[in-house]
Amino acid sequence: MLSGKDTVKAITIMSEKFPEARTSLEADTDFHFLLAVILSAQTTDKAVNLLTPRLFDTYPTPATLAVAEIEDVIPLVHSIGLYRNKGKYIIACAKDIVHKFGGQVPRTRQELMQLAGVGRKTADVVLAERFNIPAIAVDTHVTRVSKRLRIVPQKADVLTIEKTLMKKLPKDLWIKAHHCMIFWGRYQCTARNPHCADCPLLSMCAEGQKRVK
Ligand code: SF4
Repeated sequence: MLSGKDTVKAITIMSEKFPEARTSLEADTDFHFLLAVILSAQTTDKAVNLLTPRLFDTYPTPATLAVAEIEDVIPLVHSIGLYRNKGKYIIACAKDIVHKFGGQVPRTRQELMQLAGVGRKTADVVLAERFNIPAIAVDTHVTRVSKRLRIVPQKADVLTIEKTLMKKLPKDLWIKAHHCMIFWGRYQCTARNPHCADCPLLSMCAEGQKRVK
């Protein structure tokens, strides 16, 4: 298993290769960013960015979306997968923000997770991106990269992965590590054909060494 010291080293190498790593979801307010994250489940950030300008213009605040009808929201989100459920979630989420939190997006994980459509991963992304509160959201890329590099056991679930990364990395690296691992998973350590032969992490990666043999 990769030590904490080597995990920090791996993240440093990733950040040197992808110094521009950051979220690609575009939003002007905390509320709109939260909507974008909810909509991004199982679809690409690019697809979400294409539809959000109209959605955000139509519903600038939680109060405006909270009273929307699902039939009015669906045409604005129908270009992405699971649009019907996502449409229902964002209306319900806006209602929760208005009724439980005075119209403001809450700033703790516990409170964020009380909102409709918001799980731990979504909450962690919002905490890190909008409030600069250290958190590591574990998605498919973070999971794959953590397992291939043996930062976590192969059977680790998302919560174990999150907790292990938080233990092995200093808090001030959490947000950066999340961004870097996503870029690493997207462009270097891709799901089907990871680029192991030219990978700067090959010497510390058991999976990569198996693959290049
Ligand atoms: Fe991924 Fe291969 Fe690099 Fe390991 S060596 S991190 S498996 S691309």
